[in-house]
Amino acid sequence: MTAWDRVGPLRVEAVSLTEVALPLVAPFVTAHGRESHRRFWLVGVHAGGVTGWAESVAQEEPLYSEETHATLHDVVVRHLVPRLLREPITDPADVAVRLSPIRHHPMAKASVEMAVWDWYGRAAGVSLGAHWGGTRPEAPAGVVVGISASVADLVDTVGAHVAAGYRRVKIKIQPGWDLEPLQALRSTWPSLALWADANSSYTLGDAARLAQLDRMNLGLLEQPLGPDDLVDHATLQRRMTTPVCLDESIRSLQDARQALQLGACRVINVKPARVGGFGPALAIHALARDHGVPLWCGGMLESGVGRAANLQLARQEGFTLPGDLSASARYFHEDLVDPPFVLTPRGTLAIPTGPGIGVAPHPDRLRRFQVGAVEWLRR
Ligand code: MG
Repeated sequence: MTAWDRVGPLRVEAVSLTEVALPLVAPFVTAHGRESHRRFWLVGVHAGGVTGWAESVAQEEPLYSEETHATLHDVVVRHLVPRLLREPITDPADVAVRLSPIRHHPMAKASVEMAVWDWYGRAAGVSLGAHWGGTRPEAPAGVVVGISASVADLVDTVGAHVAAGYRRVKIKIQPGWDLEPLQALRSTWPSLALWADANSSYTLGDAARLAQLDRMNLGLLEQPLGPDDLVDHATLQRRMTTPVCLDESIRSLQDARQALQLGACRVINVKPARVGGFGPALAIHALARDHGVPLWCGGMLESGVGRAANLQLARQEGFTLPGDLSASARYFHEDLVDPPFVLTPRGTLAIPTGPGIGVAPHPDRLRRFQVGAVEWLRR
């Protein structure tokens, strides 16, 4: 008897989509572009007086992946929700299987799959992270710093985050913004846990330059090459000692399995929303454990709803490295959840322990930050 048997089958009565635009504290710049708002769909799965929530992560332009804010809406409305409404669901782990005939679109799938998991957790009164076997009460927090206007600005920004208590700093790099800023940070903080994320902005032709990063004592180099370049990543990893970590390349369990078989990475950044939801993310967690590969939980500038979901995953034992899990104030003046996430004196975030993902959108804030009317899809 599982916790879900007590709940019984989920007959989804309605799915709601609310478009939200949360202003960012400051524009966030990466090799993929610049964002001033975090715009997303808040997906609600409604049944039996319980609502499960999830937040979409596809960006407005197809720069991080081919999915966009608009394509995600189209796929959810036309192809995924009808499959949710068609027959009852008896286990949230089955949702990813039910949606699998639809090719790719992992972010769209995740936005409904994760809402179903949250519904089950709330209906059963069970915290998802605990249900999956996680025991950690808090997760080490890392911070990400976008491409800065100057090296001096970068050092100032990183200094503020280190002073705030972040245990690990990751900076975005791209050709022309790599060795010099990293060297400046390394000289200023010789023992800081320092990572670099290139967001696919290099090619294998840059291998000699990337190998110079080995002198910087980085914890990892994230996604240096293209999303589809698993073979090139394996070649690059053989040429450098810094562990290569994959992000954009891992869009499914199969991607993770093939990357590990090829030796394309030594670390994986897991974002449940990038791999199709919690089910595939948990399968990657099991695979990585079998390979002895460390994991950490990435982020997509999520509001507190998505952050809470990521933290439930980061509660699992395989997530041994600090995630891109920052306090709400890192990105937002006001989060969609209340209270906001804050950094503990230990440089960690407390993992919510309530049912489901442990937080829900604050109704007043949702009204204030929502764009247009709520869209309802019913059986
Ligand atoms: Mg990344």
